[in-house]
Amino acid sequence: MRFCRECGFPRAYGRYIAWTSDGTVQGRDIARTRLVFVEVDEVRNLFSRISEAIGLPVDPIVYRAEKEVGRRFIGALVPDIFTKVPASSIARPLFLARFVVHVLAGYMAALGMGRARLLEYKPARFVKVELTDSHDLPLVAGDIAGIVEYLDRAGMDAAWEEPVAGPAVLSLTKVSDTRPADERLMLEAVECLPGKVSYDFCPRCGVPREVSDNLKFELERGVIRNAVTGGREVALPAQSFAAVFRELAAELGDEVTDLLESTEQEYMRESSAARRFVADLDDGDPLTLLSDFPWRGLGNPMRAEKTDHGLEVVVENAFNPGMVAGRVAGLYEAAADTRVKVSWVEERPGRLKVTMARSVGWEQD
Ligand SMILES: [Zn+2]
Repeated sequence: MRFCRECGFPRAYGRYIAWTSDGTVQGRDIARTRLVFVEVDEVRNLFSRISEAIGLPVDPIVYRAEKEVGRRFIGALVPDIFTKVPASSIARPLFLARFVVHVLAGYMAALGMGRARLLEYKPARFVKVELTDSHDLPLVAGDIAGIVEYLDRAGMDAAWEEPVAGPAVLSLTKVSDTRPADERLMLEAVECLPGKVSYDFCPRCGVPREVSDNLKFELERGVIRNAVTGGREVALPAQSFAAVFRELAAELGDEVTDLLESTEQEYMRESSAARRFVADLDDGDPLTLLSDFPWRGLGNPMRAEKTDHGLEVVVENAFNPGMVAGRVAGLYEAAADTRVKVSWVEERPGRLKVTMARSVGWEQD
């Protein structure tokens, strides 16, 4: 992996990923995967709080939903004709499987998902992978299982162990001769509203300065760090969130959406990263609170206005309404040192309005 002489970012990044004027980040692959940069602790906190709230480990649901994302992703990259050749055929030698894994492991490392190494591969029967520095094991297990299911045209079951220290081991075992039908989780492409986000693009590699100033790579480990906060970051497919939360809502009902919003709100309010770097609200434009939204691919902040009791914000192309509403509210709470009640509505497809009202003491204002 080579680095840009101008901005220091991995050179391949600008070739594979596009920062667009509508507040989204997209893979330039044919799947046009939408990506969001989020904190690893944010994702882990989200899943563990949902587990606590529902009294069940959320990992199997996350794993199952993410398998769909893995299957669709590899399905867009690898022609189906390849997978129609029986896995045992000499036309699909082992080195080809190893090569696919090698390429995918490179993708994963560049997105900050840690390192993956193939330990054992018995085509369409058994796969064993070593995982180092994974951002979230159920997500990585789901990605890899979905990819193997697609390539080997089989249903796989996964087991993984997370040791206190050192790498984790993921084992996949064939459980059926047909890969699961993609029925429950529809990963439809979403149209984005046009926007006017502009970036200071590096003339050499095409990555925005807003990104290369904020993110630093430890590529050999597959780790991305925030240069300002030191926290670990990861680029996840927006579809992962959509798939996981749709699956959660199907299992547990609509209260999952509120749980998502309140969990994200609390995380942003309490995390030191948010508290240390939020804008000064007294004399600044409150829109600067959301200045990292576009380069993170979270959406396009259009408007932020103070109201008598708080703040009203409009974000277009929000990658997930509940999570974006929670993030907006938590950032505002940290900056204004207050607590708010939050409501949000999609005024029209792609346009999210978040209204925040101070919940304690606002009667005296
Ligand atoms: Zn550059």
